[in-house]
Amino acid sequence: MAGGRPARGVTRRVMVGGVAIGGGAPVAIQSMTNTDTVDVLATARQVAELARAGSELVRITVNTREAAGAVPEIRERLLAMNLDVPLIGDFHFNGHKLLAEVPACAEALAKLRINPGNVGKGARRDEQFAQLIEIACQHDKPVRIGVNWGSLDQQLLARVMDENAHRAESLDATGIMREAMVASALESAAKAEEIGLPGDRIVLSCKVSGVQDLIAIYRELSRCCDYPLHLGLTEAGMGSKGIVASAAALAVLLQEGIGDTIRVSLTPEPGGQRTREVVVAQEILQTMGLRAFVPMVAACPGCGRTTSTVFQELAQDIQDYVRERMPAWRLAHHGVETMTLAVMGCVVNGPGESKHASIGISLPGTGEEPVAPVYEDGERTTTLRGDNIAAEFKRIIENYVARKYAPRV
Ligand code: SF4
Repeated sequence: MAGGRPARGVTRRVMVGGVAIGGGAPVAIQSMTNTDTVDVLATARQVAELARAGSELVRITVNTREAAGAVPEIRERLLAMNLDVPLIGDFHFNGHKLLAEVPACAEALAKLRINPGNVGKGARRDEQFAQLIEIACQHDKPVRIGVNWGSLDQQLLARVMDENAHRAESLDATGIMREAMVASALESAAKAEEIGLPGDRIVLSCKVSGVQDLIAIYRELSRCCDYPLHLGLTEAGMGSKGIVASAAALAVLLQEGIGDTIRVSLTPEPGGQRTREVVVAQEILQTMGLRAFVPMVAACPGCGRTTSTVFQELAQDIQDYVRERMPAWRLAHHGVETMTLAVMGCVVNGPGESKHASIGISLPGTGEEPVAPVYEDGERTTTLRGDNIAAEFKRIIENYVARKYAPRV
């Protein structure tokens, strides 16, 4: 699926393992583990879950020598599972030391993420930043210069405040923060290029937790450079708040052609799945018409015309079913991710919406005849009734997939 997104101007293309970031490539999805990286088994398992859910790049924390030592083992375990997902190492404070002491860690990673606000203090800042970039050059690894407003370079912030004090029209505190974020990313990228990192090995990000701040900062970043940009609202939060805030911010930017890779930073609910952030990222891209991952299910919200829960249960059941079946369908059929489904609650909009979908079903509303017409490619093909509607509808979906989507050979 393509279209719907104006070109911002072609960014450079950065290869991260086998995944292209920028340069017109599809917007890539990233995620991050929350296991202790030292726990090789648990981390490899979670990376595998995230990759199987659709994360095309996975970032892991590398905060200690033990964690750095675990990275090659994690990579080997993933390869043994036939998962060649690129791993990104997340470094703060001591990355220069860890990478120098454990070169196999740098080798196993597909990209290094460096936070210019956490590289070091005072005179050691530039020295340690240079060491990190030199190591990236030695190992031919791309780098994401990832600024975060929670760890913004304080020296740079002080400089921007000082410059601001001498302006005729000074910025307010929000404006200063935004300007310092962009300056931190751009100046760090320029330094990295001076040290020898090629421009086509640099990705930038400037994460904040406010939607309007994120939009303003990325518009400015995008105006000022042609590095690919990694988008994400940091500390987005839990549940619907985190999802809505991320979607609101990312959708505006993506619609303007800004953003080459995304992460949705959701706080998992207790017992919740880490893969939720990958599903949400896919849904943002797919509902915007930028990429297709899994058949989308349209369902009406229900109202007083359909007071039973049968319709809600069927909509949930079908949504779960297509996601569960998608790995097998993807291997067997071309284009099945573009299929659309509709599960509707009554005769008012049911047949109309169902006709727009690849396959749709219109359940009977309160007081309607207890039948559920099914539509395929706009034509009514059968009518279901009785207690077995869900199973029969799934069989119809399976037949449709087998019939409509060419087998992969
Ligand atoms: S399709 Fe029927 S049940 Fe669903 S929201 Fe519309 S009127 Fe209500």
